[in-house]
Amino acid sequence: MANNSNLMSGPYKIAIRGAGVTGLWQALTLARRGHHVIVVEQSAEPFADACSPWAGAMLAPRCEEESAESVITDLGLRGIQLWQGLYPGLSMNGSVVVAPARDRKLLDRFERMTQGASRLDSTQLEQLEPALAPRFDTALFYADEAHLDPGAALTFLLNEVRSAGAAVQLGTSETPEGADFIVDCRGLGAQDMLPTLRGVRGERIVVRAPDVSFERPVRLLHPRFPLYLVPWGQDETGANVFMLGATSIEREDGGPVTLRSALELLSAAYVLDPAFGEAEILTLGAGVRPAFPDNRPRIITSSGYIFVNGLYRHGFLLSPVMAELVAQHLETGATHPEVFIADLGKR
Ligand SMILES: Cc1cc2nc3c(=O)[nH]c(=O)nc-3n(C[C@H](O)[C@H](O)[C@H](O)COP(=O)(O)OP(=O)(O)OC[C@H]3O[C@@H](n4cnc5c(N)ncnc54)[C@H](O)[C@@H]3O)c2cc1C
Repeated sequence: MANNSNLMSGPYKIAIRGAGVTGLWQALTLARRGHHVIVVEQSAEPFADACSPWAGAMLAPRCEEESAESVITDLGLRGIQLWQGLYPGLSMNGSVVVAPARDRKLLDRFERMTQGASRLDSTQLEQLEPALAPRFDTALFYADEAHLDPGAALTFLLNEVRSAGAAVQLGTSETPEGADFIVDCRGLGAQDMLPTLRGVRGERIVVRAPDVSFERPVRLLHPRFPLYLVPWGQDETGANVFMLGATSIEREDGGPVTLRSALELLSAAYVLDPAFGEAEILTLGAGVRPAFPDNRPRIITSSGYIFVNGLYRHGFLLSPVMAELVAQHLETGATHPEVFIADLGKR
């Protein structure tokens, strides 16, 4: 990290705009470091207008290496450590990647593009995820990945923010007077000040499947529509709940799931385990991921105003470490060269 000690060490009065996963991690980290934090969120109901509840939420810095730059992996590994230190609901079971036999080359390529995988044979796969064994005779296993249920984690975070002494004002967009710093975590809401920010639509389906059992996220590689499933624990009846996701479409609307996307997501689930045929669909819907043109997360500083945005498909993975970076910056002037931008024109 580069160092710039022009900043004093605080404590500061800090206003956070937006209470999605990014804003809540900022609020918690800064409040726990002794700063006076107030969060303003435009929706009266927590998370009602946020992308965050739509996430998987896999913490998968290894698998993401297949399509993301190495900075995402480096920051993401730290992100998992920070979740581990905070959230008792985190599942540290790793993740599994499979491909149908006819698409074996996709699995080989995935292995070459990522680090940290063990190649499982059929016996090892049967021990790890028995439901996959009848249809797949090999898999990649990434032991140091994690996942969580985003709804439960967001509620936990909001409570922790309040317990840490931060004030949370819902139903207002008004930034309080007198803040030393404003940290803008409005996701797509910041397009008024960050015109290159775009939305990437992600559709997902949540199902209840009493006869299906998985302990960890599973990615199914496919030439046209790669799918993943994430186990979200049990509902009140004790049945297993899964998130099936996710499309990635260059559109900014969060409207209903299309028939084509639903067919693709559901048929891929059926390929993983035909017992999904009896699953009950709980919800279908779409969230819109905030992303910069290069899909990298950014911290943009501009005289007392700090944007934290563009977390794209890595908001749960990266929000803890983005908060740590902002806190270190405020306290010591340090900047991470691949994440910080000082000039608004270069975002
Ligand atoms: C289908 C899908 C699957 C995903 N899966 C994963 C995954 O597996 N792992 C992962 O790490 N990430 C995943 N993501 C990405 C992740 O969800 C996003 O990166 C993350 O939610 C972005 O969070 P955010 O807090 O920056 O934005 P948001 O969650 O959108 O929060 C922004 C908040 O700002 C508020 N706001 C807007 N304007 C104002 C204003 N003027 N004043 C005050 N408040 C305002 C909004 O109401 C909102 O609450 C997924 C996303 C989707 C859609």
